[in-house]
Amino acid sequence: MHVFGLIGNPVGHSLSPPMHEAAYEELGMEARYVTFEPDPDSAVDAVKGAAALGVDGLNVTIPFKRDVLAAVDPDDRAARIGAVNTVDLSTSPPRGYNTDAAGVRRALGHHGVTPSGDAVVVGAGGAGRAVAFTLAESCDAVHIANRTAERAASLAADVRDGVPNGGAVTAGGLDTLADRVPEATLLVNATSVGMEKDETPVPADLLHADLAVLDAVYSPVETRLLRDAAAAGATTVDGGWMLLFQGVEAFERWTGRDAPVEIMNGTLRSHL
Ligand code: NAP
Repeated sequence: MHVFGLIGNPVGHSLSPPMHEAAYEELGMEARYVTFEPDPDSAVDAVKGAAALGVDGLNVTIPFKRDVLAAVDPDDRAARIGAVNTVDLSTSPPRGYNTDAAGVRRALGHHGVTPSGDAVVVGAGGAGRAVAFTLAESCDAVHIANRTAERAASLAADVRDGVPNGGAVTAGGLDTLADRVPEATLLVNATSVGMEKDETPVPADLLHADLAVLDAVYSPVETRLLRDAAAAGATTVDGGWMLLFQGVEAFERWTGRDAPVEIMNGTLRSHL
């Protein structure tokens, strides 16, 4: 019996258990996916304890993504980003990955979108960090716009240091969207705006048909930003795809097998 799991606090509403267990069932694997809620200051103990118990792999979510770094050997991307959301416990020390970043690339690729040209990232929290680092690897330019402009500037400095051969990285407040979005080919919302209320962080009149828009928000799946983007003729990618592909990538890291993407997606969508 293989055991995989998620550590976070809270984890009660996670959609990862049904999504991963659908994959195990499809492939006839004897495996379970379990959620754990350790104390917020016990990330390292949690990873060590899971390893001692023979757990095969862990996903990691808020508030542990940074602290877990002290318990793992991170790959280059996770080390650059400074956050781990997937741990492979089959090696010693455990290997750490950031499959949020890979999830963004695979979600876009699934919709025929290659991260290139000029990108705008709205948000500079945990999701914004993973998105900005990964887009800087292949885009000509990445502009980070955030409600708190200083936080965007600090993230931009980290990305410039962490991705030295990447595209140009700039930052500003949400007011800079008016200049940047009309010129951009890719826009990612990595704020929580659109979750609680039917609101958007990007004025609709800035959106255009040459834009691909990914919204990290997955609840609701169809946000106001995505509705506005579709009305403007843009390509749209909802947050469910990002959630799906971070899980697909984790599954493949842990098992070395191709994930049954359609099955995982169907199960995820039935819970969204
Ligand atoms: P976080 O670290 O708390 O960051 C929140 C971000 O949203 C910050 O940039 C914050 O700006 C901004 N924000 C919050 N309220 C705002 C408002 N009223 N107006 C403008 N900006 C506002 O959260 P996170 O972990 O990055 O998550 C952000 C969103 O991404 C959430 O909806 C989460 O569910 C989603 N997410 C999705 C996936 C996926 O797989 N699809 C993965 C991770 C996260 P300030 O810096 O100014 O506070």
